[in-house]
Amino acid sequence: MKLTFARLGNFHIAAKALFEALGIDVVLPPPPTKRTMSLGSLNSPEFACLPLKMNIGNYLEALEKGADTIVMVGGIGPCRLGLYGEVQRQILEGIGCDFKMIVVEPPQGRPDRVFRQLFEITGAQRISQYVGALRLGWSKLTAIDSLEKLALRLRPFEESKGDISFAYEATLKRIDEAGSPKEVASALENGQAAMKSACKKTDSDKPGIGIVGEVFMVLEPFANCEIEKRLGEMGVVVHRSIYLSDWVMEHVVKDVFRILRKSKLPYELARPYLCHFVGGHGVETIASTVDYARQGLDGVIQVAPFTCMPEIIAQDLLPTVSRDLGIPVMTLVLDEHSSGTGVLTRLEAFVDLVRMSRRSRR
Ligand code: SF4
Repeated sequence: MKLTFARLGNFHIAAKALFEALGIDVVLPPPPTKRTMSLGSLNSPEFACLPLKMNIGNYLEALEKGADTIVMVGGIGPCRLGLYGEVQRQILEGIGCDFKMIVVEPPQGRPDRVFRQLFEITGAQRISQYVGALRLGWSKLTAIDSLEKLALRLRPFEESKGDISFAYEATLKRIDEAGSPKEVASALENGQAAMKSACKKTDSDKPGIGIVGEVFMVLEPFANCEIEKRLGEMGVVVHRSIYLSDWVMEHVVKDVFRILRKSKLPYELARPYLCHFVGGHGVETIASTVDYARQGLDGVIQVAPFTCMPEIIAQDLLPTVSRDLGIPVMTLVLDEHSSGTGVLTRLEAFVDLVRMSRRSRR
């Protein structure tokens, strides 16, 4: 079996480590490029959301590299994600691809389902091998999140442009190559030290902007035209509302073991504006905006794929949140036609607005 899965930020580093520790050959799709986007858009329905198009592009490029089995996550609720496993299978079969698809459905409190699907992918293994693989994968996931948080905090203070990104990329590579949780911890520690030494004074007051929106668009830099890096290089401290390890803990671990309570905080924060689940991250988008306003951040940017229903609902409510709580909010709706230059122009205009609003507040 040569296994592949779609890219989502740096998730592939942890997932590859997990599967390889279980003795499975992993064929990663190459990092996304315009070709990935073109392949995906050409073979997907026009009004499908960007994550589906990017996934199709990833799968086609991985199949070209020799992958024969695709794993993807399923979903429930009003969002289209729940249909995407089947839709993607039909698209790929329709263009003559030869592969096996395994859709990992949300466990909904049924650990037996997860283990059955895990056995289907990995074959029977010793429990100790699963424990070791999960420990390694989890250590990489949490290390990547810590590294990303630090990069977002330090980038506005870097000595010369690109220093933080350079140290960040080099550390990611070392985390990827690490063969044990101990090596992961040491790679992270060295990377954090390298980032800190690349910065001048880090106590000056910089504007803070929160990034909210659909999980794929927030986490995948190619899809969001690298907005975090661009904002950091403009001197903005970026606060991201979703990290991979939090997402896995909330939507996978707590869904498998229902004795662990899911956080009710997003619903409590969003309640004055949105009081029920609308699929995707609609509620979290509103909740994080409220949270960022209460924390005193200077602005919020919502990133959403064109035609994403949960984010359209949130987008309609955000002007009211912005008015009530006095925080500037901008929505970026992106699809395969979005260009980095267009996004940069909008970011520059928003950062100017945020700086003016900071000055007038003071
Ligand atoms: S949340 Fe939106 S973008 Fe994500 S899969 Fe659902 S409809 Fe598509």
